[in-house]
Amino acid sequence: MTDFPAGSIWLVGAGPGDPDLLTRKAERLIRAASVIFHDALVGPGVLDLAAPGTRLVHVGKRSGRHSKDQATIDKLIVEAALQGDRVVRLKGGDPAIFGRATEELDAARAAGVPISVCPGITAASAAAASLGTSLTLRGLARKLTFVTAHARAGEPLVLDWQALADPQATLAVYMGKAAAGLLSRELIAAGLPASTPVAMVENASLPTERTLRTRLDLLPLAAQSALGDGPAVLLIGEGLREREQKALASVGKGFAYQRPVSLSSS
Ligand code: SAH
Repeated sequence: MTDFPAGSIWLVGAGPGDPDLLTRKAERLIRAASVIFHDALVGPGVLDLAAPGTRLVHVGKRSGRHSKDQATIDKLIVEAALQGDRVVRLKGGDPAIFGRATEELDAARAAGVPISVCPGITAASAAAASLGTSLTLRGLARKLTFVTAHARAGEPLVLDWQALADPQATLAVYMGKAAAGLLSRELIAAGLPASTPVAMVENASLPTERTLRTRLDLLPLAAQSALGDGPAVLLIGEGLREREQKALASVGKGFAYQRPVSLSSS
């Protein structure tokens, strides 16, 4: 394969979990790899595409569980390439969004190992698709902000709440479930109306997907009571306000469409 010689690395976006949401290029690279270093969030259906005999190495991290640290991962992928492997570093969603891609690109380049990136569908896009909604809305949500609510272990979460509390923006919050209380409190304190719509999607694109709609002041309660322990993305903003649902209910998705639980009184 001309774009994947032995001794090179591809950082590949695995998308949100549904193998059908892989790009054709990602699928081709997965099939051609001799070793795949993958995250916890890469769906099993995606790994099934690897050729027989491909070495699969789990290097993932889910909060709280033991995992390989970033420096170790950087070292592992570079060493494999130097030994002549075709290395796929498979990451959930898009490698360039909260995916530590820079560290791995730097490590490979420092070692003189060719490395390229194959983009993937990010969790916020999959979540919006599952909700049958748009992340932007003409005149109402002119800006889309990707933000992570994950702080380094032992450090407080420091965010520019004033900048985030923009009534004309949609916020896509990654790793935000544990910070639901803080998000709600700080965004309201910074001026976002308590009634601002919030949608949460857990395990977007997977058969275990759950969607939930609520409002900013009820977010902590909703996050606590209604979600499991899968990855979830929070979408916050006026653009998320529920619209006519009839058309959406008829869209076939391969599994039963569940009307989102609505805690909203508006
Ligand atoms: N690179 C990834 C994000 C990695 S950070 C991407 O582009 O999607 C991990 C966070 O992504 C999770 O905590 C969660 O907030 C979100 N996430 C990843 N997969 C998800 C999924 N299938 N459903 C909902 N959220 C998901």
